[in-house]
Amino acid sequence: MVLQDKQALVTGASRGIGRAITEGFLLEGAEVWGLGTREPSDLDAWIARTGGKLHWICADLASLDSVEPIIQDQLKAADGFDILVNNAGITKDNLAFRMSLADFQKVLDVNLTAAFLIARTVARDMIRRKSGSIINISSVVGIHGNGGQINYAASKAGLIGLTKSLAQETASRGIRVNAVAPGFIDSDMTRAMPAGAKERMLDHIPLKRPGTPEEVAQAVLFFASDASGYITGQVLAVDGGMFC
Ligand code: NAP
Repeated sequence: MVLQDKQALVTGASRGIGRAITEGFLLEGAEVWGLGTREPSDLDAWIARTGGKLHWICADLASLDSVEPIIQDQLKAADGFDILVNNAGITKDNLAFRMSLADFQKVLDVNLTAAFLIARTVARDMIRRKSGSIINISSVVGIHGNGGQINYAASKAGLIGLTKSLAQETASRGIRVNAVAPGFIDSDMTRAMPAGAKERMLDHIPLKRPGTPEEVAQAVLFFASDASGYITGQVLAVDGGMFC
């Protein structure tokens, strides 16, 4: 149980990658505060299955003014977090010349600005405790770009800059900040893609299959645990070799 007695905050915990991260942390002994826009339909059963080690926060991270106060309240209730995973994310795809400013801004707000506000709030408290691990879920498109996803790619590239900068600012206080960059992972987000686009994506993956949320969760668990105690400011791609 590599996360025994640890307390973790995971955003976007209701589905897909965030849910797999939450399940993985719970299995390793952590107490987890999951965040999503609404309660998952099986929340009561899920909490019961964990023996009360799962807590739920309903919050819309697009409402930027409310992000810091909500996280402050949860910090007080939990008496601090050892681990933060900024995982919540959205897409609003379009070609650059057709993209509305509202769609560009909304993706930046949820994927990057909210992550900044949460990381800053949680890191302040981690500094007092002189330890903590922050993991940001970026994407391979944040490194390589992707036509049709200029807003999403910018937000995910921004998360990498945020990760490296915050790592430099907090390392001397015992805090590590890393990013995981998934490739093509089987979740609601990718299930919404047109079949042709999925086929083209699979053609570029040497392992010839999409990744699973659990495979991303394993990389996050590595950064959350002491196994990565001497690693900070790094980006780990979990992409089946897409860009190797
Ligand atoms: P997903 O299945 O669509 O789940 C997204 C999660 O984010 C949900 O829990 C959702 O909560 C939450 N969320 C969305 N908007 C929110 C908001 N405004 N406020 C609070 N929570 C919000 O996505 P996923 O595939 O698991 O992706 C998880 C992360 O991995 C994202 O950051 C994504 O960009 C990244 N990623 C995914 C892939 C992939 O291939 N799937 C690849 C690279 C990176 P609700 O249920 O309440 O809406």
